Amino acid sequence: MSTFSIIGGGIAGASIAYHLAKANHQVTVYDRLDKGQATSASAGIICPWVSQRRNKKWFRLVQEGARYYPEFIKELEEWTGLSTDFRRNGAICLFKDDHIQQLAYERISAKQEGSPEMGDVRKLSKAEVKEMHPHLTDTYPAVFVEGGGQIKGESLLTALKKGILLHNGKWLEQDISPRDCEGTVIYTAGAWAREYHQHPMVRHQRAELLHLKINGELPDGETPVVMGLGPMYIVETAANQFAIGTTHEDTEDYSITPSRDNLNYLHGEAERYFPDTPIEDQFISVGLRPFTRDSLPYIGHTEDGIFIVNGLGSTGLTCGPVIGREVAAFLNGKETKLNLEDYAY
Ligand SMILES: Cc1cc2nc3c(=O)[nH]c(=O)nc-3n(C[C@H](O)[C@H](O)[C@H](O)COP(=O)(O)OP(=O)(O)OC[C@H]3O[C@@H](n4cnc5c(N)ncnc54)[C@H](O)[C@@H]3O)c2cc1C
Repeated sequence: MSTFSIIGGGIAGASIAYHLAKANHQVTVYDRLDKGQATSASAGIICPWVSQRRNKKWFRLVQEGARYYPEFIKELEEWTGLSTDFRRNGAICLFKDDHIQQLAYERISAKQEGSPEMGDVRKLSKAEVKEMHPHLTDTYPAVFVEGGGQIKGESLLTALKKGILLHNGKWLEQDISPRDCEGTVIYTAGAWAREYHQHPMVRHQRAELLHLKINGELPDGETPVVMGLGPMYIVETAANQFAIGTTHEDTEDYSITPSRDNLNYLHGEAERYFPDTPIEDQFISVGLRPFTRDSLPYIGHTEDGIFIVNGLGSTGLTCGPVIGREVAAFLNGKETKLNLEDYAY
């Protein structure tokens, strides 16, 4: 049994701590609940196969992340008796016209062979989009990916925390420096990493999501995740309630005050995607997304012996659980499924 101190209780730290505690190590998580924590502000979409990003190291990580999700969630929910609000209702990916839809269909379905967890991939006509998601605009054709899903970051963290405590770990709500920790230090401080460690260089983006209510008839059942045009996406958060986002703002500051311009922009986008029904804005949530210089997560030891995991970027909820599994295996001296060298630049 070894002793681990984990600084940061977002998905990176909580998942690593959970997997280490499960392997009977002595684990303490320190989390100071910074406002703007990315994990609880996240939209929680788990659908990495539709991205146009070509980086193979990134894709291997998120592909394995999406593959691990169902098994990880089942075990966590059974162990804790808590729901993580994970659901797989598929993803509707909208495209500007039929030509782009066809190209996207070919690109996305080509990934099916190596990713059976994607399930069925098929083209949807504008009418079929409307049938599947009655509130949504019928302006765009789509590609449907059956395996797409979503999770609530906050519910996931609550379950992980309970899971860690039930495995005799500790979770302390306090600020701490790596210098003051016992045992092996794992530094997973998200956007705040530079306070105590300069390597790797972590920068962050402010990202805003507009939460809204729609005053229309309730659709039958839960709606799929919607991947809109460009960076826009929509997730259902409760019956007739949705979150739409996101904005991307490189910044040095840590303010989480919503901006009026972003509210107007996101409200305009909501009207574009839900054109037939009145929209009631509820609130804006703001999160600080951590990135490294090549937008790949950093996973590895630094020269001073600290183990750092950071820069999970815009797919951190997707890869967080599998990073926890892999890092715990690595620190236990066991074989990992992914080559962690790929993420230690
Ligand atoms: C608006 C938004 C939407 C997103 N949507 C998606 C999505 O749809 N799908 C997806 O896969 N990913 C998504 N992401 C990305 C994902 O949320 C992040 O990559 C991930 O949550 C980062 O997790 P983390 O643990 O590294 O950092 P965080 O979740 O930010 O956690 C870091 C924690 O460390 C704590 N901390 C820092 N320093 C100290 C210290 N010295 N002592 C104690 N505690 C400390 C902080 O208080 C904080 O709680 C989204 C992110 C945002 C912001």
